[in-house]
Amino acid sequence: MTHEKAGSRGSFIKLLIPPRVREVKITEVLPCLAAEDRIRIVGNTGEKLSDILPVIYLYIPQATYSRESDSVSFMFEEHLITIFGEGKITATNLKDRDEAMRILNYVKDLLNRAAVYVIRYGTPTPEFISSKPKVNPIEINKILPKKDCGECGASTCYGFAVKLALGECEPSQCLYLDANGRKELQKKIHFIRI
Ligand code: SF4
Repeated sequence: MTHEKAGSRGSFIKLLIPPRVREVKITEVLPCLAAEDRIRIVGNTGEKLSDILPVIYLYIPQATYSRESDSVSFMFEEHLITIFGEGKITATNLKDRDEAMRILNYVKDLLNRAAVYVIRYGTPTPEFISSKPKVNPIEINKILPKKDCGECGASTCYGFAVKLALGECEPSQCLYLDANGRKELQKKIHFIRI
């Protein structure tokens, strides 16, 4: 099956499909190894996720995926997140439980969007997984408006390009990009859309 980009029809289908992951519960709160005043958590979805992990890997530019350990890892904000096929999620460098829940809700939304992708197109083949290109901030920067205004939270457009390449923000956070620019950036950043 062809792995297409999701469009408005995709959004409509998402509304019709019940979420695969309804809840993520925190099962463990542990000290964070990186900072004394921070915590890391273990969460559980109660769902098997192996089939949707490759989709997360293909969507998030800097994610890593291991078939052997059945897991996908990526940075979100300053947190290292790992999702395991058995349904477990770990997240590091968290201020408190409230922040942990915000991060877990973000991951839940990501998983449910990836699950819709799998329903539509199937689990990505090994060939498709290995064809994911690297995202280059220099190429992304070429599309940005070059105002260096800082309104996106990065002090320069190049800083924003680096964040985009890491999957830490979205093109819509640049107030000066028009719809075409946003579309072009989405294509460069995400190998697939979910
Ligand atoms: S808001 Fe847009 S124009 Fe301003 S610094 Fe960020 S990327 Fe550049």
